[in-house]
Amino acid sequence: MTVLASGSKGNSTVISSSRTRVLVDAGLSCRELLKRMAMVDEDPAKLDAILITHEHLDHVAGLAVLARRLKIPVFFTEPTHRAWVRMLTPRTTMSYAKWMDRMQLEKAARAEASAVATLAAAEEGDEAAGRGDPFSAEMELPVEAEGDCDREALAEIAVSAPAAASIKADPAFLPAVEYFTAGRNFSIGDIAITPFTVPHDAADPCGFVFEAEGIRMALATDLGYMPPNVKQALCRIDALLLESNHDLEMLRDGPYPWSVKQRVLSRVGHLSNDATAEFLAKEYDGGAAYIVLGHLSESNNQPELARIAAENAIGDRMTLLGNKVLLAEQAAPLAPITL
Ligand SMILES: [Zn+2]
Ligand SMILES: [Zn+2]
Repeated sequence: MTVLASGSKGNSTVISSSRTRVLVDAGLSCRELLKRMAMVDEDPAKLDAILITHEHLDHVAGLAVLARRLKIPVFFTEPTHRAWVRMLTPRTTMSYAKWMDRMQLEKAARAEASAVATLAAAEEGDEAAGRGDPFSAEMELPVEAEGDCDREALAEIAVSAPAAASIKADPAFLPAVEYFTAGRNFSIGDIAITPFTVPHDAADPCGFVFEAEGIRMALATDLGYMPPNVKQALCRIDALLLESNHDLEMLRDGPYPWSVKQRVLSRVGHLSNDATAEFLAKEYDGGAAYIVLGHLSESNNQPELARIAAENAIGDRMTLLGNKVLLAEQAAPLAPITL
C-alpha cells in the first residue's frame, strides 16, 4: 500500500500484489499523480486499473486525463460512473438560432486566432522541446488538444446542432469502464476486491478490502459514521487506511460556514478523530500491522491530535510489530507499506 495523497484536497493510493497494481482514486492532477508515483518508485506504466470510491472531486480530479494517458480501465459502480459523467457534462440547452449565432462568433474567433498564430509561428522556435517530454503539455492540456480536432471537424461539418454536439470532445471519455457492485466480490488480476457501501453524501460511495497472497488491506475514508457493514468489512486486515477527518472542537470553532460544518458532522459526512478512536477501542480486532490515518482535514485537524486519539484507543494492543499508526499526508506520499 502506497498512499500518494490523502486529505480533502486530493486522494490516491496504490495497492499492489507482486503481479497486479491498482490505483484507488485519482484525486490530484495527472501531472501531480505521476510526479508522486515517481517519488516512491511506482511505475505508472505498470498500473493495471484505476478504482474509484466515489465521484467527489478530491477523488477524481485527475481521473480522465490519467486513464486516457495510461490507457487503462476504470472501475466504478454504475451510479458513481453516471454521477461522474453528469459532473463533467455541461448542462446547457440553447435554441437553434442562438446556436447559429454562437457558431458565427466562434468562426470569427478562429479566423482571428489563425492570423495571430501565423504571426507567432515565426518566433516560435523552442516549442518542440516542450513536446518532447511525454508527460508535459499534452497531458495537462487534454481538453485543448482534443479541442483542436473539434475545430477542424466543425469547420467541415458546421451544419446541424446534433452533429456538432456529437463531435464535441467527450470530457468523460475513458479507454474502458468496468462496473462493480457494492457487496459483490470481484478481481483485478490476482487481487480479490470486496467493495462495501459507506455512508457518505455521494451517489454510491464505497470502501474496499483487497486480498492477495494471504495479505488483506482495506481502505475506508469518506464516511459519516461506522455502520455494522463497515465494521464487519474491517476484520482481519493487515494494513488499514482509515479516515480520521477532524477534531470536533476545531471543526466547531473553525473557519467553515455553518452549513458545511453540519455536512461534515452529519451521518453522511466524515469520521472525527473521536469516532475513529471509538471504533479502534471498541470494535477493531487489533490485528493490523499498520493503521494509516487518512483524509485529515487541514483546517479542522492536527496530525498529532489524530495520532494521539488513535494510539490511546489502540492502547495495550500496540506493539513494536503491530498496530503502528502512520499519518497519511496531503502534500507528499507516504513510504510504501510492504507486507
Ligand atoms: Zn467524499
Ligand atoms: Zn474525500
